[in-house]
Amino acid sequence: MTMTRRAFLSASAGFAAAPALGARAFGAPLPREADIVVIGAGAAGIAAARRIQVANRRVIVVEAASQVGGRCLTDTATFDLPFDRGARWMYNPDSNPMIKLARRAGFDVTSAPMGQKIRIGRRNARAGETEEFLAALVRANRAIDEASRGKADVACASVLPKDLGDWAGTAEFVLGPNATAKDLKEVSAMDKARAGDRNAAITCRQGLGTLIAKLAEQVPLALSTPASRIGWSNRDVTVETPSGKIVARAAVVTVSSNVLAAGNIKFTPDIPKRQLDAAAKLSLGSLDRIALLLSGNPLGLARDDIFIEQSNSTRTALLFANIGSSSLCTIDVAGSFGRELSAKGGPAMVAFAVEWLTKLFGSDVAAAVKKSGATRWNAAPFVLGATSSAAPGGQPSRKILTEPIGCMFLAGEATHETLWGTVDGAWESGERAAEAALRKIGALREEPVAAPAPVAKHRRHAAPIN
Ligand SMILES: Cc1cc2nc3c(=O)[nH]c(=O)nc-3n(C[C@H](O)[C@H](O)[C@H](O)COP(=O)(O)OP(=O)(O)OC[C@H]3O[C@@H](n4cnc5c(N)ncnc54)[C@H](O)[C@@H]3O)c2cc1C
Repeated sequence: MTMTRRAFLSASAGFAAAPALGARAFGAPLPREADIVVIGAGAAGIAAARRIQVANRRVIVVEAASQVGGRCLTDTATFDLPFDRGARWMYNPDSNPMIKLARRAGFDVTSAPMGQKIRIGRRNARAGETEEFLAALVRANRAIDEASRGKADVACASVLPKDLGDWAGTAEFVLGPNATAKDLKEVSAMDKARAGDRNAAITCRQGLGTLIAKLAEQVPLALSTPASRIGWSNRDVTVETPSGKIVARAAVVTVSSNVLAAGNIKFTPDIPKRQLDAAAKLSLGSLDRIALLLSGNPLGLARDDIFIEQSNSTRTALLFANIGSSSLCTIDVAGSFGRELSAKGGPAMVAFAVEWLTKLFGSDVAAAVKKSGATRWNAAPFVLGATSSAAPGGQPSRKILTEPIGCMFLAGEATHETLWGTVDGAWESGERAAEAALRKIGALREEPVAAPAPVAKHRRHAAPIN
C-alpha cells in the first residue's frame, strides 16, 4: 500500500444535517404489493430502487426516517448554507458514478482543496516536517499492507512501526479514526489493505445529501415508515410497517450493519446466524462533525483550509475552515475519543472544538462563535454509527453479507469489499443487490458463473477516507 502525498492531501480533506427534504413524502396509501421492496432510502436504497425502475419492475422504498439520504444528509437550515452532516466527499473521479450523476443533475461539482496543513503547537509545520510526517505515514501503511498478506489477520495497531516518534499519534489518527472511524487496534489489517483508494476528493456545493434527495425524486418511497418485521421465504417477503404490510417477490435490505446486528428489524424466520455474526464483525465506528459559524475569521485562515495537528495521541481532530468562502468551520472527531466525546452531548462537543482551536490558533474563538451544531451519529436511531470497518478476522464478513437470504438481498456500504465506508460503495452495492433481486424474480437473466475478479489494485486504499 503506497501513501502518496497526493493521496494524503486530497483524501484527508474529506469528512461532516437539518435534512434536505428533496424527496417527496409518500402521499398515497402504502401499496399492498410490489415486485421488490427496498428497506432504507440512503445511497444504497435509492440506487437499488432506480435500478429496479430501469428494469420496469414495481418497487417501493420504505424509510424509517422523515427524510431520505441516511448518512448523506445536508442541513441547509441551521447555517443558511449547505452543511453536510454525513458524507461530504466523492473519491476517484474516473470511476465514481456519483460524480457523473451529480453533473448530470446540474450540481456544482468541484475538487477538494489540495494542500492540507499540519499544526505543530501554534505554528504550521515546515515543509521538511510535513515530509517527515508523510514518510511516517508511508511506513505505517506499508507495515499494514505487509501484515495483511500474513496467514492470520491482525489489528493494524499491532504492526505499526515502533519508531514513528513525534508522528506516531498523528499517523494513528489519520489512518485510524480519520479514515475508518475506529482506532487502529480495532481495525483488521486485511480489511484496510483491501480497501480501494479514496483519491482526488470531489464535492458538490449543494451537498451530498441534497444530491441523494435529488436522485430519489422519481422513486416511490414512504418516509417515516420503519420496517418492523420481515417475513421471508425463498418465494416472497412480507414487510410489516406501522402503515401496513407490503407483499413482494423479493427485498433489498440496506440498513446499516449496526441496525441489522441490533435486531431492530425482526425477521421471521430469524436471519441466519452467519449473516448476523458477519454484521457484528463489521460494526460501525464513530465519526462526528462539530460545526461553528465564526465571525471575523478569527483563525486567520483561507477558504477551505484543512488542518490536522501533530498530536501524541488520537485525542485530536480535523479542521475544515471557511468552507466555500463562508464563515462555517467544521471539526471532525472520531474513533474512541470521538465516541466518548459525542456521548457527552452537543455542548461538550462544541466546547472541545472551541478549546482545541484556541489551543492551536491562540485567538479568542469563543467570542467569535455565532452559531454551532454537532452531529451524533452513534445516537441516530436508524443508523447507530458512522461507517463499518472490520474487526481483525472480519474481512470475509463483507462477502458473507452479500449472500442471498431466501429472496432477501443485503446492501449498503458494509457489503462492499473495497469501497466500504463510502457513498459510491453504498451506491454500487445497492445496484448489485437490485440486480440479484431482479434475477431472483426472473426479471434479469442469470449471470454466467465467472472466475472471481481480482481486487483492482488501482482502487486500493492508501489514505483517509473521510
Ligand atoms: C460523518 C460522516 C462522514 C462521512 N464522510 C464520507 C465522505 O466524505 N465520503 C464518502 O464517500 N462517505 C462518507 N461517509 C460514509 C457514507 O455516508 C456512507 O458510507 C453511506 O452514506 C452509507 O449509505 P447506505 O445506504 O449504505 O446506508 P445509510 O445511509 O445508513 O442508509 C440506510 C437507511 O436505512 C434506514 N433504515 C434504518 N432502519 C430502517 C427500518 N427499520 N425501516 C426502514 N428504513 C430503515 C435509515 O434511516 C437509512 O436512511 C461518511 C459517513 C459519516 C457518518
